[in-house]
Amino acid sequence: MAKDEPRCAFCGRSRSDVGILILGPDGVNICDECAKLCVEMTESQSARRNAAAEPMTPAKVAATAAKLRAEKTPEPEPLKPIALKKPAEIRAVLDDYVIGQDQAKKVLSVAVYNHYKRLNDKLFGGVPAEARGEKPAAADLENVEVEKSNILVIGPTGCGKTLLARTLARVLDVPFAIADATTLTQAGYVGEDVENILVRLLQAADGDAKRAETGIVYVDEIDKIGRKGDSASLTRDVSGEGVQQALLKIIEGTLSNVPPNGGRKHPDQKYVQIDTSNILFICGGAFVGLDRIIGARIGNKFLGFDVSEKTGATLSAEQIMAELQPEDLFEFGMIPEFIGRLPVVSALSQLREKDLEHILTQPKNALTKQYRKLFAMEGVELVFEEGAVAAVAEKAIALGTGARGLRSILEKIMLDTMYELPNRGNAKRVVVSADVIRGNASPRIE
Ligand code: ADP
Repeated sequence: MAKDEPRCAFCGRSRSDVGILILGPDGVNICDECAKLCVEMTESQSARRNAAAEPMTPAKVAATAAKLRAEKTPEPEPLKPIALKKPAEIRAVLDDYVIGQDQAKKVLSVAVYNHYKRLNDKLFGGVPAEARGEKPAAADLENVEVEKSNILVIGPTGCGKTLLARTLARVLDVPFAIADATTLTQAGYVGEDVENILVRLLQAADGDAKRAETGIVYVDEIDKIGRKGDSASLTRDVSGEGVQQALLKIIEGTLSNVPPNGGRKHPDQKYVQIDTSNILFICGGAFVGLDRIIGARIGNKFLGFDVSEKTGATLSAEQIMAELQPEDLFEFGMIPEFIGRLPVVSALSQLREKDLEHILTQPKNALTKQYRKLFAMEGVELVFEEGAVAAVAEKAIALGTGARGLRSILEKIMLDTMYELPNRGNAKRVVVSADVIRGNASPRIE
């Protein structure tokens, strides 16, 4: 750098270090960045107030400029390839949080692994496969495009459908959002626009559309938008088929205009454009009655009579679900295009009492562990006696809401103790017995 090279009088950088240097009289020059910051300062209220009190000097401009520079929100980091985990690694994390559902865990681990492999290839195809920690494709497969495989999970309420989807997003560290299909309506009708699904994903990605485009969306209660009645295609009903059509577009991949703050669309709103073709959609529903549809079909075909009516007792729910074919979903009320976009189907099973006991004690953030931690913060040891956990599970089975009932059962039982405990400085231990759960006693405070 030449010694007498002109410099910016504000930041001190030389001509070769800046974009444009505007040369002023007597060596009072200004670079493009400082000029821009000066404009910003004239727009900043506090800078205006300060300048009114005392004249600005180059030193002050430099200081304020540095402050403004620091305050400026950083540009979002450029997208990096998703750190792929092998199916077995994904499965291991699922095991930490989700009890049972072995088959579903396997299906989901493979599907998610493939999805992100495909996505990395699509977004970062320019980066050599080896650099991404993957093996290069054979020459004849180079231009083959792997299609997206969205996932359908079927299972009764509270069996872990949402939990599985949420845990998958956590494994991969990608944005995750949950949407409820029942709140959606076809554009133009009362209710939420289908695009609102993406609003939540955008928010989960801190407003970074590029990151949102690599996320996972769990659409709950997908079975509730089944077409009503048998009118397969003659009539279109607002609540069912119309929504399936609208949702279909987003699921299969489209450029969607998303109002960043949600709400209904209106003409003078600003939109963020999101390409949904790499977003993984996991749709879930209880599909009550689907087992009867399958039963009737396999009964008619193989046995000549209705399995569900006559021999249903000999086939477990899992065995029936294992026979699921796309035509059963069509019969249930899903439109064929929609079924076609959810090629990976996994059935979750109803949780049994033993599963619920395990859910209470085993996962990383199991409910009893959470309560024990809350009590420990109070300096108190919380003990669930043998039998108490089983009694909670028994009660939840009676409620019929799967694992969802567990928390409210415990919450009710622990309420009084949690209210009183902070007032009793000398308590060391709280013991919960099976009798407490059954409502015949209070937790014992020692
Ligand atoms: P749904 O199948 O209705 O989506 P969720 O996944 O929302 O059910 O489950 C509700 C809650 O019950 C979860 O937050 C979790 O605490 C618990 N839960 C449900 N299934 C399981 C499971 N298989 N393992 C561990 N916890 C579970």
